[in-house]
Amino acid sequence: MKQLLNITLNVEEEASEERTRSAIAAMLGVAEEDISAVKKLKRSLDARSRQIKVHLSVEVFVREMPREEDGERVVSMLLPDVANASPVLIVGAGPAGLFAAFTLIQRGIKPIVLERGKNVQARRRDLAALNRQHVVNTDSNYCFGEGGAGTYSDGKLYTRSTKRGDVRSVLETLVAHGASADILVEAHPHIGTNKLPNIIQRMRERIVEAGGEVHFEQRVNDILLHNNEIQGVRTAQGQEFLANKLILATGHSARDIFELLHTKNIFIEQKPFAMGVRIEHPQSLIDAMQYRAHGTPRHELLPPASYSWVEQVQNVEQGGERGVFSFCMCPGGIVAPCATSATGEIVTNGWSPSKRNNPFANSGIVAAINLPDLAPYQHAGALAGLRFQQELERIAWEAGGKTQTAPAQRLVDFVRGKTSATLPKTSYQPGIIAAPLHELLPPMIGKSLQRAFEQLAKRMKPYFTNEAVVHGVESRTSSPVRIPRNPETLEHVQIRGLYPCAEGAGYAGGIVSAAIDGQKCAEAVANRL
Ligand SMILES: Cc1cc2nc3c(=O)[nH]c(=O)nc-3n(C[C@H](O)[C@H](O)[C@H](O)COP(=O)(O)OP(=O)(O)OC[C@H]3O[C@@H](n4cnc5c(N)ncnc54)[C@H](O)[C@@H]3O)c2cc1C
Repeated sequence: MKQLLNITLNVEEEASEERTRSAIAAMLGVAEEDISAVKKLKRSLDARSRQIKVHLSVEVFVREMPREEDGERVVSMLLPDVANASPVLIVGAGPAGLFAAFTLIQRGIKPIVLERGKNVQARRRDLAALNRQHVVNTDSNYCFGEGGAGTYSDGKLYTRSTKRGDVRSVLETLVAHGASADILVEAHPHIGTNKLPNIIQRMRERIVEAGGEVHFEQRVNDILLHNNEIQGVRTAQGQEFLANKLILATGHSARDIFELLHTKNIFIEQKPFAMGVRIEHPQSLIDAMQYRAHGTPRHELLPPASYSWVEQVQNVEQGGERGVFSFCMCPGGIVAPCATSATGEIVTNGWSPSKRNNPFANSGIVAAINLPDLAPYQHAGALAGLRFQQELERIAWEAGGKTQTAPAQRLVDFVRGKTSATLPKTSYQPGIIAAPLHELLPPMIGKSLQRAFEQLAKRMKPYFTNEAVVHGVESRTSSPVRIPRNPETLEHVQIRGLYPCAEGAGYAGGIVSAAIDGQKCAEAVANRL
């Protein structure tokens, strides 16, 4: 007999196979020896009460051995040979571009992927130079290069997408290329920066083995058109790649692509986004707060704790309310320098290794930026939000001494409007310097964050501490530009054969949703062909 069961255990019970089995036997009213196998389908940790629990969905086999079809679905991907098939161009080898390439191959179409950055191995050296010598390679950094912004990230694989089938297919593809099968079971799966590059590399190798092409160090700087129809692209390296279907998956940091579209009068529009700071706390403090174990270290069976919060604050400047929220929280993580331009930019974000074993917890804390907030930048038209982003990044760069050193302030000092006399240790490798971020940030961000932290201090008291430090600035949470497309065909509203895709086009936020949008765009192209 095979039975599906939801069961809640404490962490010690769940960590022991024997105790899990005995709890299941008791729940089913059968003898322990009658349970032949237990397969975990979903696992989530619940730390809302003092007694931390693990919720499990399991498939239990009673007096019956699992058959082959009951086993972990063998995630193998047989891909057809597309070497001689008709080509489709994909610009950008981020999650969207790579998953689009897989889907095209599955539909018998040859993807030609053009990527401005380097492969994962070569990219590593540029990240080291960025962290140690403050040298930003404008084509190879935390945002650009094989795997896109997702490669050296936390690799959190949560998404608000409700289509479980779509999410499952992304996770299965990652497992087929070396990710742990645990990501299929965990409610909040993550991979980690140390593991992602190999998975991405294997995915690229599969694309090439199947007859697709992946060209690194090819920065697209022109789109070739005839009568508003795609003909191909030209790269800064002087090559032309021709095809009449183009999936544009360049991510939200590809400002030159937004500028190119704007200059060529290809329709793009402003969209709301969010900006703020990246905060860092000692991980032990977040553990104590979330696991309610003040003064005692985290239980060895528990993962480093995470958090997320949203506050609505009064928007004194413009009236009404403004949302302030935590974004991309990295337990046991590192704050990373994510600038893509050699001068004039400080951009922070965060990553963590698979074990999340660094002593810090970081998170973006950002205020929603709505279209009326962009009024001072209207002269820039569709690029108004982009100009605001650039200005904020420049303010941080100047305050940091025109290097990758980030301006920073202790949290309580930030809220009380006082420059910090000293700063705590940070994981941000290029270093931090004390600066009055409360004054430097425009009030719609600075004041909103101050209010949100004050409100938060009432319900998350330990969080509001001068042991925490805010780093300026977290400016690239989502794209400030949308490249509008027909919701049915996913083709650009004006240019035939152009498929604006994923985060850069304003249709995704995060690795999984970008991957899903890549799949969708590829399906749309295949249907059209
Ligand atoms: C440090 C960091 C940590 C993150 N952590 C997480 C996380 O834990 N979980 C999560 O879900 N999301 C995370 N994100 C966000 C996530 O990485 C992005 O949402 C996702 O990568 C977007 O995918 P994409 O394919 O749309 O674009 P991108 O990943 O940005 O890929 C775009 C690609 O296009 C290339 N490109 C740009 N312009 C050109 C051009 N002109 N010619 C050729 N190629 C070009 C770029 O080099 C890049 O490789 C993180 C991001 C960063 C920077």
